[in-house]
Amino acid sequence: MILPGATLGVLGGGQLGAMFAMAAKRMGYRVEAISDVADCPAAHQCHRVHVGAYDDAEWLAQIARGLDVVTFEFENIPVAATRALERVVPVRPAPEVLFTTQNRTREKAFLVANGFDCVPHRVVGSGLELRAAVAALGLPSVLKTAAFGYDGKGQQFIQQGADTGAIDAAWETLGPQELLLEAWVDFEVEISVVAARGWNGETAVFEPSRNVHRHHILDMASTPAELPAAILATARTTTAAILEALGVVGVACVEFFVTRDGRVLVNEIAPRPHNSGHLTIDACETSQFEQQVRAICGLPLGSVRQILPAAMANLLGDCWHNGTPDWPAALAVPGVSLLLYGKNDPRAGRKMGHLTACAKTVSEAIENASRARKNACRF
Ligand code: AMP
Repeated sequence: MILPGATLGVLGGGQLGAMFAMAAKRMGYRVEAISDVADCPAAHQCHRVHVGAYDDAEWLAQIARGLDVVTFEFENIPVAATRALERVVPVRPAPEVLFTTQNRTREKAFLVANGFDCVPHRVVGSGLELRAAVAALGLPSVLKTAAFGYDGKGQQFIQQGADTGAIDAAWETLGPQELLLEAWVDFEVEISVVAARGWNGETAVFEPSRNVHRHHILDMASTPAELPAAILATARTTTAAILEALGVVGVACVEFFVTRDGRVLVNEIAPRPHNSGHLTIDACETSQFEQQVRAICGLPLGSVRQILPAAMANLLGDCWHNGTPDWPAALAVPGVSLLLYGKNDPRAGRKMGHLTACAKTVSEAIENASRARKNACRF
């Protein structure tokens, strides 16, 4: 057990690392971030930030000597970095979990091997293989890079009726590298489930969240998801089974497509807290970040009970388009709280912060979160 007063390391400097540090500091831990960028959100929240290259194993080993446990907040970190740290200090979740989930081909192979329902797909390594995959899966479909994709980056949609020229063009745009073609799922709704798993296999599963994306980026998450109990139960038990099969010690999130005929297909796994779980900070007895601290430190997991229905609206850089957002106007909406990540450069599509609204009903929470965002961003 790693008790308050110990030093926790977080690999990656983004907002997930910053919110992890906030939760850990409150519980009396010292937190140090390891990042390749000095001015990062985690740097503003951690006691110390180590800045260097993730492929510098000697530097990582030296940092590890001052840490009691390490976690990661971003899956595009080289696995070798986690292995270099693991030689000196426990890394949770284990590097193997990162290895499986940071690559779409490996992640899909894991899902298929363990019998989890996922989106029909084919691995593609050449233009010819892409044509064959399109013939097998049909159109529309979506071509994705196996590695280093997030928030819709590294994806090409191939329309219904696309000819071989358009299919070859999709290969030219993303290749040559390992790609994955996925059938396009005409889903009813997208949901996600955040869960934690401790050293001893104890698991705590949060309520599923209903997620709406815009331009492939999460726009709004709300809980409860208001879906038939059987669908929610399948999503929750599937998530717990995935954490178990992967051997996660820590927090992970599973994203699902719920199809019009009621199937619950795994879209992807994130081996860390998730954007759709940010509302747990304001709405649940234990936040996903406190749960991450508890899980990696071997403490008892907290209650995942939701106190009030809630909705979270992401604040992208676009919100700064007309100048500094009108925060007083957002915060005048009842039950709304603001969390900004401390990023200086509000580029379009960049996650800068989020607003959470808690209310008596989830529809009121969604309405208040959207109104607060509209007030702030003036669009
Ligand atoms: P991803 O990064 O793969 O989760 O993709 C981001 C978002 O794009 C998803 O949350 C969906 O809204 C959409 N998307 C990705 N793949 C598919 C698919 N095979 N069928 C339908 N929508 C998809």
